[in-house]
Amino acid sequence: MTDSMIEVVDLKQHFPIYGGVFLRQVGTVYALDGVSIKVKRGETVGLVGESGCGKTTMGRTMLRLYDPTAGRIFIDGVDITRLSQKELRPLRRQMQIIFQDPFESLNSRHTVGEILEESFIIHKQLDSRERKSKVKQLLDTVGLSGSASDRYPHEFSGGQRQRIGIARAISLNPKLVVCDEPVSALDVSIQSQILNLLLTLQRELELTYLFISHDLAVVKHISDRIAVMYLGKIVEYASAADIIETPQHPYTQALISAIPEPDPERKKKKIILIGDVPSPINPPPGCCFHTRCPVAKDVCRQQIPVLKQSDTGIDHQVACHFAGEVNLAE
Ligand code: SF4
Repeated sequence: MTDSMIEVVDLKQHFPIYGGVFLRQVGTVYALDGVSIKVKRGETVGLVGESGCGKTTMGRTMLRLYDPTAGRIFIDGVDITRLSQKELRPLRRQMQIIFQDPFESLNSRHTVGEILEESFIIHKQLDSRERKSKVKQLLDTVGLSGSASDRYPHEFSGGQRQRIGIARAISLNPKLVVCDEPVSALDVSIQSQILNLLLTLQRELELTYLFISHDLAVVKHISDRIAVMYLGKIVEYASAADIIETPQHPYTQALISAIPEPDPERKKKKIILIGDVPSPINPPPGCCFHTRCPVAKDVCRQQIPVLKQSDTGIDHQVACHFAGEVNLAE
């Protein structure tokens, strides 16, 4: 048995853009451009980066909600890259997703009980009485009362709706859950309750999480390892502690400098990046970050830096020609 729950190799997701009278292809969105990553069984990997960097596309392509343009996807050792939807169906139980907006993802015309029963009906599991009992058990597991099953999603608060989304995601005993910005739409006080619920469920159900967020402060709270994404590529990947304490990529250093510091004694330099993220329709040559990197040199504009093991001797990968030599926070 492999120790990797997820392994993606050189994954690419390019979306064609059609235009003109004849709707010909006029461009391409390079949403994912050669991502390789392994997530071990039972761990949480946080995937962090600014809006539009490809995080959500990565989560959905890994689950084969989108068909990849190129590359390979292995889930629990099984190559699912080219499986048909019919072949994927039995594997779908093992890989689930929690969406950012629980209201959008829950059918407002169905009661919570009907929503939670749906997965069992689709996968032809349990009879009607067993399904109702399982729904009660699921609601209890996520901290909601059994009476919630007769109510509609609009009758719940945002945090409660996300609990319903989580109940649906764990209903079929998955091994892997992609959490796509699951707390971004919630108040800060509710965010920590949902994060703690996810951590408890992970321990009890032995789940593996890919936790997608634009907020590094949230990601560091829940992740064992963190992958930093920029313009469809992973630019740094290491343990959460190493990413936070010794970031090597200038982009990661800038993201960390933006995390609010609760201790007023520990002052840190804030790194302001100039300019916007380039368009994934027309990514820059060389290092994808060179247009905003304060220490870019000629080589950065010409050669793409490969994600490789840093010289630190620990498991820490960086894609920068000057990894280990630059510290923007100094
Ligand atoms: Fe900056 Fe060059 Fe490193 Fe890219 S390769 S992050 S441009 S120093």
